[in-house]
Amino acid sequence: MELPETGREASELQAEMDARRAGDADWREGRTWSLVYHGGEDLEAVRDDAYERFAAENALNPLAFPSVLGFENEVVGMVAEMMHGESAVGNVTSGGTESIFLATYTARERARRRDPAVESPTVVYPETAHPAWAKAAHYLDMDTVVTPTDEGWRADPEAMAEAVTDDTALVVASAPSYPHGVVDPVEDVAAIAADHGIPCHVDACIGGFVLPFLDELGHEIPPYDFSVPGVTSMSVDPHKYGYTAKGVSVLLHRDKSYRRDQYYADDDWPGGIYVAPNVQGTRPAGPIAAAWAVMKFVGRDGYHTLVEEAMDATETIAAAIEELDALAVVGDPDMTLLGIESVDPEVNAWTVQRELSDRGWELERQQRPRSMHLSVMAQHAPVVDEFLADLEACVAVAREADTEEATAPLYGLSASFEEGEDATETVIDLLNEVFVS
Ligand SMILES: *Cc1c(COP(=O)(O)O)cnc(C)c1O
Repeated sequence: MELPETGREASELQAEMDARRAGDADWREGRTWSLVYHGGEDLEAVRDDAYERFAAENALNPLAFPSVLGFENEVVGMVAEMMHGESAVGNVTSGGTESIFLATYTARERARRRDPAVESPTVVYPETAHPAWAKAAHYLDMDTVVTPTDEGWRADPEAMAEAVTDDTALVVASAPSYPHGVVDPVEDVAAIAADHGIPCHVDACIGGFVLPFLDELGHEIPPYDFSVPGVTSMSVDPHKYGYTAKGVSVLLHRDKSYRRDQYYADDDWPGGIYVAPNVQGTRPAGPIAAAWAVMKFVGRDGYHTLVEEAMDATETIAAAIEELDALAVVGDPDMTLLGIESVDPEVNAWTVQRELSDRGWELERQQRPRSMHLSVMAQHAPVVDEFLADLEACVAVAREADTEEATAPLYGLSASFEEGEDATETVIDLLNEVFVS
């Protein structure tokens, strides 16, 4: 693994990189139901060209590269408009996790600044909220109150109202939640926050480039954005259903007054006065330029097409699952995310997942309820029939298999756990094995 004494030929390295890809997840052929959002080859070419043009620039100093600043402002502006944020402002961050971290940090600082009596700024979120919320609170040393959901896996506003105290710094809803694809009752959750004069964040990381377009196409979408009073911040990830390059999320605040606490400045460094909008110091400009170029290239009509393809595929899959007596869609999803559980005691959903994996289909395993997860994207439209045929075959195989098989619901890694076992040490050990260097 050591650095070569002399540099190698570029062509040789390129050939080696391509060869090394042989074992990678096959997203290009639509066999991977998460991780890579593929919007077609024309889009890909625009994305990669923009990324490459700005691969060297640094968005750390927004004034050094007015071009990059312009791209960022326009990306944020376009997303703010999509979220009906008339006076909304924001920044590009490296991903949903960073947006969520900053939303949590901003709320903590706001709580401390506004009310020094707040002893322990706390975040209240439903159990279906993304783990980035727990991670942010962990890093920021904040307490959390995790509330139960209703039988359809949507946040329970009553439980959230009961959880809010004088220490609550932030209340969270998802639009939609990742595991079951359902939009939380944002109006009710935001009203609770507004009653207490505290911020409410809507996590539209995965829904932000689907819900507005489904809405425009006439699908019934529950209210979830800045049009709902009381929603004070939102996260939307162009690098998911926006089909842009990885490394781009948008964190929006209802207006500038809410963004104030997001920014960090240090005027006491020997090197000079330092100020940064987000966690990153050096900020890659490539992803920002690529997001700008892809969004302008695709346009509203292009997103309508991409969303419609994914939604049609989702509806076809959901209808076929209802036909298969052994499986059912979890809850009543609002967009292109499907949890698929077994409703037949003879069929273990994780065994079906393993059988599908043996046939080259990569789905995630979920634990509550025990299910498989599909993020249906534009690239899946052509493979739906093939997938459904394999799904039916895998259900038949699973029916004959040992239903007690219980491998971890752990992304791409396999380990066995008992039901209810604390698996955190085990998975951290696994990571230590995976990252060998
Ligand atoms: C993906 C996702 C996140 C985290 O975003 P990253 O870009 O993976 O950091 C947060 N919330 C929801 C609902 C998501 O789907």
